[in-house]
Amino acid sequence: MNWDEFADYSKQIADWGAQYHKTLRDRPVRAQTKPGDIAAGVPDGPPQHPQNMDAILRDFEDIIMPGMTHWQHPRFFAYFPANAAPPSMLAEQLVNTVAAQCMLWQTSPAATELEGRMIDWMRQALGLADGYTGVIQDSASSATLSAVLTMRERATGFTGNREGLAGKGHLRIYCSDQVHSSIDRACWVAGIGQDNLVKIPTQGPRFAMDTDALATAIQSDIAAGHTPAGVIAITGGTGVGGCDDLAAVAKVAQKHDLYAHLDAAWAGSAMICPEFHAAFWEGVDAYDSIVFNPHKWLGAQFDCSIQFLRDATPQLDTLKIEPEYLKTSGQTVTNYSEWTIQLGRRFRALKLWFLIRAYGLEGLQSRIRNHVAWAEELCEEIRAKDGFEIVTDPILSLFSFRCPGDDATQQRLVDAINDDGRIYLTQGAFDGRKIIRVQVGQFDTTREDVMMVADVVQEVWEAMT
Ligand SMILES: *Cc1c(COP(=O)(O)O)cnc(C)c1O
Repeated sequence: MNWDEFADYSKQIADWGAQYHKTLRDRPVRAQTKPGDIAAGVPDGPPQHPQNMDAILRDFEDIIMPGMTHWQHPRFFAYFPANAAPPSMLAEQLVNTVAAQCMLWQTSPAATELEGRMIDWMRQALGLADGYTGVIQDSASSATLSAVLTMRERATGFTGNREGLAGKGHLRIYCSDQVHSSIDRACWVAGIGQDNLVKIPTQGPRFAMDTDALATAIQSDIAAGHTPAGVIAITGGTGVGGCDDLAAVAKVAQKHDLYAHLDAAWAGSAMICPEFHAAFWEGVDAYDSIVFNPHKWLGAQFDCSIQFLRDATPQLDTLKIEPEYLKTSGQTVTNYSEWTIQLGRRFRALKLWFLIRAYGLEGLQSRIRNHVAWAEELCEEIRAKDGFEIVTDPILSLFSFRCPGDDATQQRLVDAINDDGRIYLTQGAFDGRKIIRVQVGQFDTTREDVMMVADVVQEVWEAMT
């Protein structure tokens, strides 16, 4: 392909993209294909001869698009959002086009220096104390794994990487029973082991970790000869939005000199609104590591996860490795690949820069405020339905409900709603029962889109019963 053809196809794709987004409401949110449908449309083996780009693009439309679930659909209420605001998409197009690998400062100084600035812009926007630095990772899972590895190294006097973990006893990490599965997986991969991830029961309307139980668990582990290594708190759990009392958890962690990591992957975006700080963010400055995903609610195209660090030294002592071929001569610079597990790095800061400049903080704040208000309004509509039950009240813009009937009926309703296609909801579990989750957070959603959930639930329920 020559660069004139590249320009022509790029224009064609940009036009297609605008049309796609303008007509998203006409499409079913969740893909309506069955397992294997899409693979059946793709030849078994690669072509020997070059194929024409027009044909490739035609096949993209005909074969691939029917198998896409539309995450940017304004009536996407499943999981958590993966918002890609248009300015962030434009930034990604530029990043894709320049196609730099930004592992070291000198492999693209702009990527490193803009990343530093964007982390500090976000630090200020989230009201974090001066002194936090950080790094942009691909996902919260990677940031949490980095934090768990740091806990491991810190608790073993930074000998784990060199010697392995044999003979080092049981390292223990504590979290609530509301945490995301990425915490379990980080403990598996770090060699801590699932059995050494201690899940503390939760209590109260926000499903917060019982900090007395946390203190007791740490003390009895010490008595048993185990080594407490770290605590992971959460604000805005994935299931029902569970939120720990950050100050209370950090106080216990500090008492035992434990490294403290906070998972705010979803709810962190809402902390650009100062009015949520009293309820969700009090005590945040006590955390050594904080992860939040601008690629969820905020609007920075996936992937973009910020890990803030109060002091980067322990994480660098855990992950930094500097073979001769990666050294930068004669300059003191930041090489962000020393802060993370992966060496190779995409230029992720550019989309944050575009996003924040194009909307201003107030443009992003007003969306989040609307989402929270509309979720509350929708929750009341569903509460008023005959036989329907709100299981968990809104935490920010997430709540859950049940229709009349058993767990199988809940799943049947979710499946029927998603087959209908006008909205997309997913199920979850709470207190041993199946629930239907609703989160409001899609970047382009309107109050009308949100209120339509109540109508669709009603119509599909009536058709089902
Ligand atoms: C989405 C989510 C994660 C995982 O995020 P990734 O970036 O996909 O790894 C972790 N914790 C919480 C609370 C989440 O909502």
